[in-house]
Amino acid sequence: MSTQAVYLDELFLSVQGEAAQSGRAHLFARLSGCPLRCFYCDTPRSWVRREFCEVQFPNGEVKRWLNPVSLETFQQGWEELLQAYGCKQVVLAITGGEPLEQTEFLEIALRQWPDESMLETAGVFPERLQQLLPALSSVSLDWKLSSTLKEPADCLAPLACLEILQQSATPFWVKLVYLPDTPSQEISEALSQISHAAPGCQVWLQPATAIAPNRAPIDGKRMLKLLLDHSHYPLELRAQPQGHPFWGIQ
Ligand code: SF4
Repeated sequence: MSTQAVYLDELFLSVQGEAAQSGRAHLFARLSGCPLRCFYCDTPRSWVRREFCEVQFPNGEVKRWLNPVSLETFQQGWEELLQAYGCKQVVLAITGGEPLEQTEFLEIALRQWPDESMLETAGVFPERLQQLLPALSSVSLDWKLSSTLKEPADCLAPLACLEILQQSATPFWVKLVYLPDTPSQEISEALSQISHAAPGCQVWLQPATAIAPNRAPIDGKRMLKLLLDHSHYPLELRAQPQGHPFWGIQ
């Protein structure tokens, strides 16, 4: 595949619903392809590279582009979308899937993007993260707990990614999603590792938030207990459910 083209899943504008940038308008570029299989994944469609991607406009129109999408089409698409929303400035959220699978394209594309850009990564391919960092305004590192994965993934290297981020000048935070049956011990161990590698780091504890009738509701008391039990860790620890299911938007 050319480094001037990308496998995209969708492009849309919405409110950021998670972690440090929550509540800000973002243009979401969801890239296709993911080596992980999280139990709580709400976009399993993005695991594979599809023939077409969708671009969603405010009037309900959905345009379909053939994959892979050229740099030119990608740039025209975001300009058209921002114009349709009458939006002058917005954060570009590079999400997935796992965006670091397509780092070379991102390095080039981000040079064209005029505003802030934020990468959401699961903490894979540390050398690619290092490569892309200079082009980014911030990074959200999604620290995967092994009990939340359907299958082990050799490519996971959250600690190495965290060490790179800690050495860099790029603002970052860690997101730690847990499920109702995630053992608290596993959360404690992850927080301990994070606090040793990046003392003072901002960490968002995030209960996987109900999006389907068969998903258990959030246990607010447990969320509070987790915060209090780990309040002595040298971390900026916060808790927050995912916003989108509450707001009824994507
Ligand atoms: S890393 Fe993201 S896209 Fe991949 S399976 Fe997990 S939640 Fe889904």
